[in-house]
Amino acid sequence: MKIVISEFMDDAAVDQLRAQFGAANVVYDAAFVDKPEQLLAAAADCDALIVRNRTQVRGELLEALAKARVVGRLGVGLDNIDVAACEARNLKVIPATGANALAVAEYVIGTAMMLRRASYLSTAAVAAGKWPRAALSNGRETAGSTLGLIGFGSIGQLTAQLARAVGMTVIAYDPVITDSNPAWMDTGAIRMALDDVIRDSDVLSLHVPLVDSTKNLMNAERIATMKNGAILINTARGGIVDDAALAAALRSGHLGGAAIDVFTQEPLPASDVFAGCPNLVLTPHIAGVSAEANVRVSSMIADAVIRELV
Ligand code: NAD
Repeated sequence: MKIVISEFMDDAAVDQLRAQFGAANVVYDAAFVDKPEQLLAAAADCDALIVRNRTQVRGELLEALAKARVVGRLGVGLDNIDVAACEARNLKVIPATGANALAVAEYVIGTAMMLRRASYLSTAAVAAGKWPRAALSNGRETAGSTLGLIGFGSIGQLTAQLARAVGMTVIAYDPVITDSNPAWMDTGAIRMALDDVIRDSDVLSLHVPLVDSTKNLMNAERIATMKNGAILINTARGGIVDDAALAAALRSGHLGGAAIDVFTQEPLPASDVFAGCPNLVLTPHIAGVSAEANVRVSSMIADAVIRELV
């Protein structure tokens, strides 16, 4: 058996695979993703390929996986994998569902509290001897506000639980999680229609996959229906929010803040799209990536690959 790992995987999980399949049969290079020729050569006779979100499992690479039986995904979104083509070749795709949900949920609650208070970005001013106390004395508390979730799967549900613990009301839209699903009762979230969630949220957070129906979901028209002063958080995928429309809404003062972790093109190319936007947090696709989540995600995928192949 040969296992190829093309992006970062936690050491203990790589060692687990080495112990199972023999060290020589586990080919791990966290930079394979940036060396397509070498990756293609290594993948040609592998039984399992393990990727994060950058390796594109389609086209030439998919053709090369003639012998493989499983693709392990160190994360959740599958937009970098041609799942239908994999299934057609009996190549099983296994995501690490749930393993990084807590990291994302904490990112959402952390940024929601920070952005509503709008008072934590004063370090440079305070250190320089300015004292912007009056300007920062009108931040808003989080308890009593309404969190809206678009997408109520593993991350949406966990975020709802954390939000309830800090006193938020939670409303959510998900066409698949029906009224009878116990998740509504378990989390205390209220099921609503998409437009109502967008209109009634003080903090709106997206937890949907990137598929045709979610592309450009938060376009200028829908952003315009958000409450004055509302906060928008996107940890789902780039392309679900229209960044230029979001930036315009922040600059005009219609929205009160935003946290954006994912972009259509990553790394985000230098540009002035977000120039001059107040109360904006941009992060490099790390919402689901914490020390603990790395361990959980990697060990879940190592276990799954071993189960499939042994
Ligand atoms: P999940 O599959 O458990 O839940 C996704 C939910 O979205 C499902 O319940 C589905 O019914 C719902 N959905 C699908 N289309 C929808 C639509 N048009 N409108 C509303 N709901 C819709 O996935 P998850 O683990 O909760 O992850 C959600 C997404 O978050 C992933 O697809 C991934 O893209 C992203 N993610 C990002 C990071 C990060 O580091 N930024 C980490 C993990 C996941």
